[in-house]
Amino acid sequence: MPAADTALRLTTFSNVVVFGTYATYVIMSIMMMVMIIMLMPAAQVSAQRINEVLDTQVSLREGTLTDAPEQGTVEFRDVSFRYPSSGKDVLEHISFQAKKGETVALIGATGSGKTTLVSLLARFYDATEGQVLVDGVDVRDYTFRALYDRVGYVTQKAVLFSGDIRSNVLFGESRGGDTDEDVRRALALAQASEFVDKLPEGLDAPIAQGGTNVSGGQKQRLSIARALARAPEILVFDDSFSALDLRTDAKLRAGLDRELGDATRIIVAQRIGSIRNADKIIVLDEGKIVGTGTHEELLRDCPTYREIARSQLSSEELDA
Ligand code: ADP
Repeated sequence: MPAADTALRLTTFSNVVVFGTYATYVIMSIMMMVMIIMLMPAAQVSAQRINEVLDTQVSLREGTLTDAPEQGTVEFRDVSFRYPSSGKDVLEHISFQAKKGETVALIGATGSGKTTLVSLLARFYDATEGQVLVDGVDVRDYTFRALYDRVGYVTQKAVLFSGDIRSNVLFGESRGGDTDEDVRRALALAQASEFVDKLPEGLDAPIAQGGTNVSGGQKQRLSIARALARAPEILVFDDSFSALDLRTDAKLRAGLDRELGDATRIIVAQRIGSIRNADKIIVLDEGKIVGTGTHEELLRDCPTYREIARSQLSSEELDA
């Protein structure tokens, strides 16, 4: 082949390669531009929302106290509360005390303010009027860490995180130990051992985000175990026993009495059976306390409690 011919072919080939490369750049750039144009409105909306969050003033101010004069006590002093978005008080003039080691139960119709009341203890909100005291100190005066160290809170809806059983039980700061032995003790107390022991991976069994790979009752027991593993002075159960069957509920309560007799317990419940042995039962109706006392006292004196009891217990149980 003559040399001039070869040179011409080489030039043509390299021109084609260069053209191809440039054409790819141009097409890629146009595609990127189309992507940017498509994503721009979503990015603008997100940026606005992020700025709104960054500009929001924090309404819960952290206090400075870490020490307290008492241990395991809870007191509500004439507490009223109104959600920022609503025009009416959800709780009105609530006052009661729980001493160290006592079990105080809250019962009442749906919407009577039970969850709102216990959420003030963990400072999800601050009382609009009055004071909530933990260990003799207003919850607003504690550092967040000091308050959360004292109060273990099991929410109505169990929340699990992706990881394994161990990481879910040991989640967060804790006054309790963090060995496998501690995890197993908390699981046993929360009546979760029976299903965890059956899992081939044991404490390493994976948990999907939100706990979608365990049942409702199992989720609830794992989140109870998380609160127990932290060994707090005050345990708050917000309707945490309703997802459990009656037998497990009874075993769990007996275990708490036996092993955590020192911890003060505030229990929100729907079932009278779960709370009839409580030291003090508080009956709420439309945000007001309509009765306080033991099961027997309330059956005698409180019409609202009698009504709830009548709908749940047989006449023999009522007379017992
Ligand atoms: P309970 O636990 O006894 O079922 P709640 O404490 O959940 O009752 O609710 C008490 C009242 O407060 C209800 O009337 C409810 O509509 C209202 N409420 C609850 N949460 C909010 C909120 N985040 N914002 C405004 N109102 C709320």
